[in-house]
Amino acid sequence: MSEIKIAPSVFAADLGLLREQLAEMEQAGADLLHVDVMDGHFVERMAFGADHVRALRKLTRLPLDVHMMVERPENHLDSILDAGADIVTVHAEATTRLLSCMQKIHKAGARSGVVLNPATSEETIRYILDDVDMILLMTVNPGEGGQHFLPAVLDKIKCVRGMIDERPIDLEVDGSIDDKVIWSCYEAGANVFVSGGYLFKGSITENIAKLRKACE
Ligand code: ZN
Repeated sequence: MSEIKIAPSVFAADLGLLREQLAEMEQAGADLLHVDVMDGHFVERMAFGADHVRALRKLTRLPLDVHMMVERPENHLDSILDAGADIVTVHAEATTRLLSCMQKIHKAGARSGVVLNPATSEETIRYILDDVDMILLMTVNPGEGGQHFLPAVLDKIKCVRGMIDERPIDLEVDGSIDDKVIWSCYEAGANVFVSGGYLFKGSITENIAKLRKACE
């Protein structure tokens, strides 16, 4: 099983306390900072763009895991990569140029990732696996608040872990991950866990520890 990585989602952070919260995440052993970029088209909400990624780059040494919930991500890759993203994931549903996006991200020296919405079949990515460093499976509908973890995704996690086989690909899950559902995702084969609302309720340090402990 691959190494467990915890990726706090900056969307759920308190922007007024961002510097302190980033320092606490680093201290508590967070592995990545997950940055949700939302364009108001692919998802209803709008959040974070290249300028925010650039600002975050200066504020933290955590690798920036940029999740582009954006139509035609190919039009925005240059600015996101230039802003300092370490990992860029794009939705399979948002582009007809998925492989080309993966190649462009690699060419810029970043790690490439593909995201699948809950309704999208894993077959979509079967033939691009050699160009992918991370696969992100949505465990809720993207960009909508107040949702519950979708247990049907557990089957997809298992299928994708099987497809990954021996490749060094991280398998990330995103959406309502807490200390109750993380174990079933880990057991199914996920190893990178985005945590938003759960992580920022109460102590960030304790919550990161609880997530890790739940996987033991
Ligand atoms: Zn995300």
